[in-house]
Amino acid sequence: MDAEASPSRPLATHLRGALQACRGAWSHAAKLALDIALPTLCVACREPVDGEGVCAICWAKLSFIAPPFCPRLGIPFIYDPGPGLLSMEAISDPPAYARARAAVRYDDVARTLVHALKYQDRTDLAPAMGRWMARAGRELLDEADLLIPVPLHWRRGWSRRYNQSGALARAIERQSGVKVASEALWRVRPTQQQIGLSRSQRASNVQGAFKVAADRQHRIQGRRVVLVDDVLTSGATVDACARALLRAKAASVDVLVFARVVDAHKATI
Ligand SMILES: [Zn+2]
Repeated sequence: MDAEASPSRPLATHLRGALQACRGAWSHAAKLALDIALPTLCVACREPVDGEGVCAICWAKLSFIAPPFCPRLGIPFIYDPGPGLLSMEAISDPPAYARARAAVRYDDVARTLVHALKYQDRTDLAPAMGRWMARAGRELLDEADLLIPVPLHWRRGWSRRYNQSGALARAIERQSGVKVASEALWRVRPTQQQIGLSRSQRASNVQGAFKVAADRQHRIQGRRVVLVDDVLTSGATVDACARALLRAKAASVDVLVFARVVDAHKATI
């Protein structure tokens, strides 16, 4: 029978419409009830907030890194030294990776976000953090073939349930379309936490800690890789990762982090 000719059709349409309206009203009411029961709080100051993890006041306190900065390390310059000029750090102690970029300076609000993502299971923060990172790393991502999150040792991964760098990498993948290859790089031995270690201790702590498994080398060879991590302090961890990827014949390795520690005294040239 032709559906248009069915006498029951107007009634069915009416009922369907009423049901949908009911459903819409119910889901709206349910959402409202949830919002009242569980207001979203700013992750930094705990004030109620609309939408994403930080309120407008805390967002304004984040120090987004913008040019001028060192084209190699991404360290912000106070004065623009002109195109192509590198920071003293990039000249005196060049890293294994080609370029590093960070969304924000590692200050109080940035630290709160990083800790919430890392230790409090606030994976809901990853999309916003990843969006800021994708913007800061656009130049790198435009040329990239793969995103590789800095891996945790499996023992730490188990106890924490997920890798915060992996969560950020997946958010950047959604923004940029560059694919995540999270199984390619391995942390082959557990390392001491880098907190409290000197620069040279940090470097020796992570030396030889990362490896590309022989059966994964084909995924790295000839590829332009962007390493993803939450924080860049001395750069020792990403440097050790970059060395492992270059040994596996990556065409290039760049680094994209959410926040980087900026030493105010060394920020100028
Ligand atoms: Zn706030």
